[in-house]
Amino acid sequence: MNLEDLLTKLSYLKEDDVDLVRKAYSFASKHHRLQKRKTGEPFIVHSLETAGVIADLKLDAKAIAAAMLHDVCEDTSCDIHEIRKEFGKEIANIVDGVTKLGKIRITRRWIFLLKKENIPEFDRQIETIRKMFMAMAKDIRVIIIKLADRRHNMKTLQGVDEERRYRIAKETLEIYAPLAYRLGMGSLKGDLEDLAFPYVYPKEYKDLKNRIAGRLEKKEKYIEKLKKIILKKLAKEGIRAEVHGRTKHMYSLWRKLQRYDNDLARIYDLVALRIIVNNVAECYQVLGIIHKLWKPLVGRIKDYIAQPKPNGYESLHTTVFADHGEIVEIQIRSRKMHDQAENGIAAHWHYSESKGTLDYLRRRTSYVPRKEIIWIKELAKWQGPLKSNKEIVDDLSTDFFSDRIFIYTPFGDVKDLPAGATPIDFAYAVHTDIGNSIGGARINGKMVELSSPLQNGDIVEIIVKKNACPKTDWLEFAKTSLARSKIKSFLKKS
Ligand code: MN
Repeated sequence: MNLEDLLTKLSYLKEDDVDLVRKAYSFASKHHRLQKRKTGEPFIVHSLETAGVIADLKLDAKAIAAAMLHDVCEDTSCDIHEIRKEFGKEIANIVDGVTKLGKIRITRRWIFLLKKENIPEFDRQIETIRKMFMAMAKDIRVIIIKLADRRHNMKTLQGVDEERRYRIAKETLEIYAPLAYRLGMGSLKGDLEDLAFPYVYPKEYKDLKNRIAGRLEKKEKYIEKLKKIILKKLAKEGIRAEVHGRTKHMYSLWRKLQRYDNDLARIYDLVALRIIVNNVAECYQVLGIIHKLWKPLVGRIKDYIAQPKPNGYESLHTTVFADHGEIVEIQIRSRKMHDQAENGIAAHWHYSESKGTLDYLRRRTSYVPRKEIIWIKELAKWQGPLKSNKEIVDDLSTDFFSDRIFIYTPFGDVKDLPAGATPIDFAYAVHTDIGNSIGGARINGKMVELSSPLQNGDIVEIIVKKNACPKTDWLEFAKTSLARSKIKSFLKKS
């Protein structure tokens, strides 16, 4: 990939924005000019590939520029101040976030735990890592860039020695792929898992590959035939649709087989048919047409439009006895649902007002997509049940988060507070005016006392009352110096 390839992906940006990406490219290529990747390629190829994924996801120019610059601080003499000077605070903060995320990794000791089959301890460590990732979710672009970075690193993993290869692939399966899944980014999740699979489970991977080889080819040919039948039928009904076969990702097939007694004959979506139409009404219409054409299997019709999956996934699924008695899964969705299923949280950029950041969406309450809040909640769950904060691993040589908790506003913004903080601290962290007019508070939808200590991942809503004002006893519950000083100054004035 070169600069030209990247530029062809940028047709959705304004000219100024394209200039910003060019500028980031020159800056990065100047700093990386003497470096090579382990594969022997010039380093800048990695920066371009990472930026390319961000452009494919149609994120804003700042995110693309930050992706281009993401390794500059890590690998060259350039520091973050220089980036701030050249590109401003927002881009510098993203780059800084990506650099910090890069320091969170599975260490050798953890792999040792795994080899000794100390699974509970290993899982505990993974949970901690996920928690730390969560802490960085303040700007979701940081995480998306990190996922793109990881995908290219996985593609070039053959350049790395065996021990590191295993560690990085394991990290990808345990941390990055689940994170992509939680963000609804099905395409990245599938890629990351399939890239890691052969390194983490080499024997199982080979066995499965041999097992499905012949079957896959036959099935793909058969699906091609069905595709023609469907297209013809839909055209007759006046529906313009895109129909294609989708081969199941290897890793997800392997996991599914484990739940189906390893019986390949019971996997109906080895190759599935995907029908993409224009709107919801057409989805149901197509389902009707398909069921008239071929008999559906009992209990296999799933309406993920009426009831989306927790990560926001929407589609209609059905499994039918198609021609010659073959059983086939068919997935029906609108173009928008398809984009959401593939790109998840990133898809919001092009279905929102294209202002770029999620903060923009969050600030405008009427524009907060419900699904985004679901994702944020899922992310909170993803960090696992809360263990004591003292358990932060010393290997990571940071205790930065050990006494901090991360609290969500109802709109998905994260506030970083000390452990033991109360709704009062939270209110002042949001805004002084909100602190000064607290009428009550809800934690995860339930009314609570203002003295209730908050827990990591809580969603807190402050109920503002016009005539409310700070009380002296609030000083007993306020933990942050910010809240305490604001309360004191208010009480002094009155
Ligand atoms: Mn990188």
